[in-house]
Amino acid sequence: MGREWEAVAASCAKEGRDYGDFLLGLTERELIEREQRAAERRIKGAKFPVLKTIDSFDFAAQPTINELLMRQLLSGEYLEARENILLIGNSGTGKTHLATALGFAACTQGRKVRFWSATALVTHMLELREQQDLKRFLTQIEKHELLVLDELGYVPFSKDGAELLFEVVSRAYERLSLIVTTNLPFEQWTEVMGSERLTGALLDRVTHRVHIIEANGESYRLKDARKRHKKPRKG
Ligand code: ADP
Ligand code: MG
Repeated sequence: MGREWEAVAASCAKEGRDYGDFLLGLTERELIEREQRAAERRIKGAKFPVLKTIDSFDFAAQPTINELLMRQLLSGEYLEARENILLIGNSGTGKTHLATALGFAACTQGRKVRFWSATALVTHMLELREQQDLKRFLTQIEKHELLVLDELGYVPFSKDGAELLFEVVSRAYERLSLIVTTNLPFEQWTEVMGSERLTGALLDRVTHRVHIIEANGESYRLKDARKRHKKPRKG
């Protein structure tokens, strides 16, 4: 307000508007700026590996993805209902990009978001448990409104690791939304979680109220690399 009041006052004076208008104009600017700063803080706090938004996603390059559903989800209603989103597909099909775009949208909608690689999360929790510090972490997790678990399935978990992941999922259940990205069809989740019982319980919670986005196309990375390769070199 300190920075802006003179400009707002000058424009009000010029347009013959009264003090009420001036005050309203000034407080509106203050609120907008506060909201922007809060969104920036939330985006920083979410710790996205690389910031990607839906604007840079080329749906035409990945026609198997349900664009309509994706666009609906970006509006954030699923967060209100504490529903989950599962992004399934091969490597390089844009799952992490889309998960980040959803997380980014949630941040701008005032939600508290945290992005985790599934493996990093489990490793982190195993370390915290050694330090007797896990409880606090799990309580903090519950304060989020959206948790992204990226790349479940590339590395199998130890027995303890799988149990800790289950702990996160069961705490999240009906309290906050989860976005999970994976290259694994459901039948193969047991290979990652180790135990069939645990996998069943985990899948039960993740898929209870879930929107599924499948990406079955070719890897964007591969296609991109091939395109660059084909381009005739200059000089
Ligand atoms: P996945 O997580 O499915 O392995 P990523 O989301 O990491 O794939 O995508 C790999 C790279 O390709 C990223 O840099 C991503 O931004 C880009 N990418 C993938 N699909 C698309 C797309 N349809 N449009 C634009 N960029 C894409
Ligand atoms: Mg990925």
